[in-house]
Amino acid sequence: MNERFTVSDRWQFRSGHSWLISLAIGLCLAGCQTGGRAENASLAIKVDQVGYPLNGPKVALISAAAQSFEVRNAADGAVAYRGRLSPSQADANTGDQVQAADFSALHQAGRFYIEVPGVGRSWTFALGPDVYERVYYLAMRAFYGQRCGTAVDLGSEFPGYSHPACHVRGEFHLSSGQSGERDNIGGWHDAGDYGRYMVNSGVTTGTLLWTWELFAPKLKSISLNLPESGNGTPDILNEARWNLEWMLKMQDSDGGAWVKQTSTRFSGFVAPEDDRLPSEVIGTGSPPYKSTCATADLAAVAAIAARVYRPFDSAFAARNLDAARRAWTWTEKYPNVTFRNPPGITTGEYGDANCQDERLWAAAELWRTTGDAAYNDFFLRNYNDNLPSLDAPPDENWSSLAPMALQAYALAKQKGSDAKAIAAIRDRRVSAARAIAARARDNPYHVSMQTKDYVWGSNGVAALYGMDLLIANIFHPDPEFVSAARDNLHYLLGRNAFSLSWVTRVGENAVKHPHHRPSGDGRQELPWPGLLAGGPNAGRQDAMLAALPADLPPAKDYADQMGSYASNEIAINWQASLVFLLAGELE
Ligand SMILES: [Zn+2]
Repeated sequence: MNERFTVSDRWQFRSGHSWLISLAIGLCLAGCQTGGRAENASLAIKVDQVGYPLNGPKVALISAAAQSFEVRNAADGAVAYRGRLSPSQADANTGDQVQAADFSALHQAGRFYIEVPGVGRSWTFALGPDVYERVYYLAMRAFYGQRCGTAVDLGSEFPGYSHPACHVRGEFHLSSGQSGERDNIGGWHDAGDYGRYMVNSGVTTGTLLWTWELFAPKLKSISLNLPESGNGTPDILNEARWNLEWMLKMQDSDGGAWVKQTSTRFSGFVAPEDDRLPSEVIGTGSPPYKSTCATADLAAVAAIAARVYRPFDSAFAARNLDAARRAWTWTEKYPNVTFRNPPGITTGEYGDANCQDERLWAAAELWRTTGDAAYNDFFLRNYNDNLPSLDAPPDENWSSLAPMALQAYALAKQKGSDAKAIAAIRDRRVSAARAIAARARDNPYHVSMQTKDYVWGSNGVAALYGMDLLIANIFHPDPEFVSAARDNLHYLLGRNAFSLSWVTRVGENAVKHPHHRPSGDGRQELPWPGLLAGGPNAGRQDAMLAALPADLPPAKDYADQMGSYASNEIAINWQASLVFLLAGELE
């Protein structure tokens, strides 16, 4: 996760600052014309730039004083719908006065824009069935684009977005307790950097496997155009396996898992194959060298994999189950070995002082997969204190696995599960979802975000609100949960204060300068597609954010600049939450 939680690397941004600005200006001169699209859209009119399903609520938001609006056909400007704007509401998180344009009564498929007399027109958007399928495809293809250790090519859709195999050699760092070569090829580049980290891989891969488990009928026939496509395994599982194989290689013979495989410091903004820094398997620096959080994450993810791959590759499923059991046994021996960067290592730390929630998740998933009483006993001894974790998403979902643990248990249909525990978890999830949905309904921007949620990776928090709502909908079906989840998706896809889609190459006005090395190596004008940027961050931990006006409200603390790693980095964990949300909203 790159610059997060490390300060020692920031010299790179200071030294690279002037050319970054030159590059940004150059890109704008060359690339700010949108050619044939809504070139003069008003940023005061905010729409989901992807679109709205035909039969759900359809609302645009306007941060300018006006009375009425029109929905016009994008092809010929013909008016398809006319309506009155709602009364203005003050939004504390943005400082905006916001009015709603509700055109839910329009049931016509096509491409449209909103016209507000005296204000202007919006970006175009679609109404129709399957409006989110293309975004789902791109968001999943983004994982393929993050593949390490192999050549990647996005093909004719995005010519030139390719790289030869990268990081094909590795070695043990002294902190791992071993020495010599250790290739461990594979996995996904974690974020804007080229590191691979077990803890962030844990929640990310787990979320993608859950996406399959919960929404398989909608996903099974969607091809992601992968090298493995057509092999009989659904493509979301093909993609997740790329990272799983690397995670399995990070397990030592004693069952424990090393924490990460990165260079000792971050590389410059170069293409993956041009990063020549040695790729090191890094440990805790003293016995037992592996960490409990990393090992428990492996146990949880491999336990899920043992379930979901069984119909497609029983040998791979069995390999995962064996890895999961051995990892669990290791955590029984070492219940809380935590990790800090050893001397000389300055890549992302993903520091976590408490690995109990990771162990709880592993126990729940192992119980769900095996039905072995020991896992159930561990879960039932430890779950109760974690129930409040269901009330709101964690700021950092890679370090707070209690929600995954609890929900895994309640989703399991395992004979012998404790009915009282399941009821407590379901009730807590559903009542929290009611509050989350009510907030989206009452918030002027129709989003569940609270003032405190504008943290590093706030867009990931918005996606997690969507996940919470969709899981609640499984426990207790309620159309309002699905609709509120979609409101949070609308926020990510352009219905926000910036009128900006935070998913690269999606929508007419999408984020252009993510903190992402392959996008910033100077070879391409536009970023790699399908990537979710971090979003507004009132913490302002980088120079670009620190330079913003001091009195900006929290939801406006954002800079679409490559140097703004604290608001514009991409990361696989919130990417996975976006995929889950999109999958849940597919029709
Ligand atoms: Zn690589």
